[in-house]
Amino acid sequence: MIANRLPVLPNPIKGVFFDMDGVLYDSMGAHANAWSQAFHFFGFDFSPEMVYRNEGRTAQSTINLVFQQDKKRDATEHEVLKIYAKKTEIIADFPDAVAFDGVVSLMKDLSEKSISIWVVTGSSQDKFLNALLQDFEGYVDKSRIITGQDVQHGKPHPEPYLMALKRSGLASHEVVVIENAPLGIQSAKGAGIFTIAVNTGILDDQVLWDSGADQVHKDMLGLKF
Ligand code: MG
Repeated sequence: MIANRLPVLPNPIKGVFFDMDGVLYDSMGAHANAWSQAFHFFGFDFSPEMVYRNEGRTAQSTINLVFQQDKKRDATEHEVLKIYAKKTEIIADFPDAVAFDGVVSLMKDLSEKSISIWVVTGSSQDKFLNALLQDFEGYVDKSRIITGQDVQHGKPHPEPYLMALKRSGLASHEVVVIENAPLGIQSAKGAGIFTIAVNTGILDDQVLWDSGADQVHKDMLGLKF
């Protein structure tokens, strides 16, 4: 029931939990195309828009979703590894993802205000996680990243954001999540956290509102805490 919801921005804010793809990096176009091409290579149809709609799932969950649709069963471990390896191979040939404008200055601002910065991503690929540490050096620390490997259940399950609450020692009413994806928003709201959506992709704003976002913005340039 979201009709009676009265979302209140935490005051003071003690932590900001950032999603990675589509929030910190302009990377979703590449992921969408790479997933779509990898599935196509193995004879499955999964459009880039479907990737956007299912963004935030772990790789295994994404592959199982396609198998359930097409074959009415989960993928075997071997099939998961094969398809994920293909997706990884395809995306490796794409140009490196670029950080969105405004992210570093927002992190600088948060840091000056002693607001803790966390990254909560479904991704587990070392390439992207290492890039995070380089691109946001001084702001993002390895001990404050929750990856797909830290959780049993990926987004839309609340576990990733609950894990960030647990590790940070912060309460849900002390933090804000910044997300771009419907399932990511559901995950954050399931953990009871005020959630700001940035619509950096191809979906309608309404999809993000319907997922439970407390605010929807075009990008991060106007965000201040
Ligand atoms: Mg995202």
